[in-house]
Amino acid sequence: MVKPNSVVRFAPSSTGLLHVGNVRAALFNWLFAKRHGGTFILRFDDTDRQRSRPEYEAAIERDLAWLGLDWARKERQADRLQHYDAARDRLIATGRLYPCYETPEELEFKRKRLLSQGRPPVYDRTALKLGDADRARLEGEGRRPHWRFKLATEEVRWDDLVRGPQHIDEASQSDPVLVRADASYLYSFTSVVDDIAFGITHVIRGEDHVTNSAAQIQIFRALEAEVPAFAHLPLLVNAQGGGLSKRTGSLSIADLRARDIEALAICALLARLGTADPVEPVTSLDALAATVDFSRVGRAAARFSEDELAHLNARTIHALPYAAVRERLPATIGEQLWLAVRGNLTTLADALAWAEVVDGSLVPVLEDPIFLEEAAARLPSEPWGETTWKEWTAAVSAATQRKGRALFHPLRLALTARETGPEMAKLLPLIGRAKAAARLSGMRA
Ligand code: GLU
Repeated sequence: MVKPNSVVRFAPSSTGLLHVGNVRAALFNWLFAKRHGGTFILRFDDTDRQRSRPEYEAAIERDLAWLGLDWARKERQADRLQHYDAARDRLIATGRLYPCYETPEELEFKRKRLLSQGRPPVYDRTALKLGDADRARLEGEGRRPHWRFKLATEEVRWDDLVRGPQHIDEASQSDPVLVRADASYLYSFTSVVDDIAFGITHVIRGEDHVTNSAAQIQIFRALEAEVPAFAHLPLLVNAQGGGLSKRTGSLSIADLRARDIEALAICALLARLGTADPVEPVTSLDALAATVDFSRVGRAAARFSEDELAHLNARTIHALPYAAVRERLPATIGEQLWLAVRGNLTTLADALAWAEVVDGSLVPVLEDPIFLEEAAARLPSEPWGETTWKEWTAAVSAATQRKGRALFHPLRLALTARETGPEMAKLLPLIGRAKAAARLSGMRA
């Protein structure tokens, strides 16, 4: 049972675009909040001042909004530095954060030496043995300390909502650096401070953060806070089994949007990939939220395929009611036309071509002009409806003895100039008698 009032967060760094890989965490957080009546917070992890960019932040917001993943609250880590300073001072006061003076070269040297001795390259805590005089001397040399969190040598356990019981032996880990020599903070620290401040109940994120969790759990405890629940989602891989990195530009949400992929299709695929549930179209995010369940997410990396997305996109469109697309369609496409053509679309933009067939003018393709003339002579008078096609073609068949393809194909070609398409019974009344008659006699109409 999930407690009501759960609070979750999606915490992207503003150093790149959202893509199918990293947006999965956003989606699961949002769906989880929706399902359990919780709050979804958007937090920008932008303490890396060099690489963070306001334009990425704006792009991430635009992409999330387009996907329908709205947030109740937005925070930026860059605005919260005084909170990190306060938490840092608390950890220093309790002896859990200690200054270290090794240069990167010295650390690398130690690491190599341990490795060459066949030992794990764990930081040796030399800095813990320094006295005040040593520190004064080192600072006198112009060195500025970075700060490490002193891990308790214990086995950290948590029951991951996706991965089940986890344990990491902290004796095999180096004390993590939480504050750099330039006094900037590392994500593992700022994230915990914020998770505490915002009352985060569930940390839902990618599996690449599993190894951070043990140290973070210790930081929660060192700051005397309740440890949230964790759910680590398996990463997505491409068809070749490789990771989907930020550089997989063609799979950015912005790019998929530009290619007319439906937001709903992206969400439906990402919510179901690698789970025990079938990938199938849905008509709303709420429908997806009703089924989100971490116990149904598998442990193995989930394979993302663009073909599967394209296929799901088409299936999603085929089921969309007019109300769901009306605002995105030109006014010339009414409900009847939408219902007639949606089953033949692979993207929404394809609807325009069918609107042209119905309303625009086209050069008919005449396969058998004499037959078509006979057919034109038997066009019923208006008003036309869904049964008109059947009545008309029955009459044409009786008069010409044609059946099946020989009967239908030349009519479709003349009326639409296309080999295939939506049911003629639905298109014909939309084309109307005047245009139909003109096209059957070979006139551009
Ligand atoms: N900024 C981190 C990331 O983008 C957040 C990880 C987390 O959710 O704790 O991977």
